[in-house]
Amino acid sequence: MRVTIFGTKGYDRRFLSEANAAHGHDLVFLEPRLDLTTAPLAKGSRAVCVFVNDRVDAAVLAALAEAGVRLVALRCAGFNNVDLSAAARLGVDVVRVPAYSPHAVAEFTIGLLLAVDRQIPRAWARVRENNFALDGLIGRNLHGRTVGVIGTGQIGALVARTLKAGFGCDVLASDPVVDAALEAIGVRYVAREALLAQAEVVTLHCPLTPDTRHLIDATAIDRARDGLVIVNTSRGALIDTAALIAGLKSRKIGAVALDVYEQEADLFFEDLSNEIVDDDVFQRLLTFPNVLVTGHQAFLTEEALAAIAETTLSSISDAEARRVLTNRIGVERVRGGGQPG
Ligand code: NAD
Repeated sequence: MRVTIFGTKGYDRRFLSEANAAHGHDLVFLEPRLDLTTAPLAKGSRAVCVFVNDRVDAAVLAALAEAGVRLVALRCAGFNNVDLSAAARLGVDVVRVPAYSPHAVAEFTIGLLLAVDRQIPRAWARVRENNFALDGLIGRNLHGRTVGVIGTGQIGALVARTLKAGFGCDVLASDPVVDAALEAIGVRYVAREALLAQAEVVTLHCPLTPDTRHLIDATAIDRARDGLVIVNTSRGALIDTAALIAGLKSRKIGAVALDVYEQEADLFFEDLSNEIVDDDVFQRLLTFPNVLVTGHQAFLTEEALAAIAETTLSSISDAEARRVLTNRIGVERVRGGGQPG
């Protein structure tokens, strides 16, 4: 099947081409992201392949359908950028990669937490200047600290387990679905408000839904313990960034590590080093010594990219052969409060 792949980076081309040796699809790699102006470029393809920040709203879906597209294959787990109702109305199937390597994201989360908490990037910057002074680099042990994990699905469960069994943290969890295996090792499920009030570190692993949007807001920050450390590798809009900045300025928040950002679609995955960045909120975030930001790279391991490519192309092969689409996401997932993660 001919597939137009939007927002292609070098690594997408490499891993999709390698996996395609076993599928034989006609892959058309495009650098621009999918939006209303680029949608007509899919003409002649029955499928398009997109990523987290491509625009897949009703208007774009209508333009894709007009161009003859019948399948949108997300090469990611999250689908909060897709209007599933519009896709259903237009007869366009949507598939995603529900699981590729939760280890990739979980390990990166722990890495971010250690890096920001023990000030590793600041220490490295000093050493490169032959500044071996340690003033200002005092951290805290993770052992014995109270860590709240919001969302204990595939990624959150790995993080909770590592923090509990590996580091000896006191782990609190919040999730409508209780993981009995985590409870068995001593992870304690509590209400989200209790978690946010008791935790010294909070790490976010729930999907972005109307219920979870801005779950870290001014009220949550106000009620939190002084010096709260926040890690977010899930979705940017789980945090109200303006409230986060206020919490950093008031010293209420101790440190923040983010792999995702509310307005990341305008920034991430591109080299803007020669540009003026207009986003004043993001620029303010970068001025704090206790903030660490990476550009949505938690998924970026060899294993995850290979798994993403294989699952995506298998779904396209299933669609071509008219087999059941096991990774299809339908509008019922949203109505049922399902997992836009
Ligand atoms: P998952 O579906 O396995 O787990 C999500 C968990 O969140 C589920 O257990 C669900 O019950 C829970 N949940 C739903 N609503 C909740 C709520 N209101 N409060 C608390 N918990 C709630 O998903 P996953 O694969 O573990 O992914 C988690 C998140 O990580 C997703 O948002 C996904 O988009 C994000 N992600 C980020 C990257 C990255 O590169 N940064 C890569 C992959 C996934």
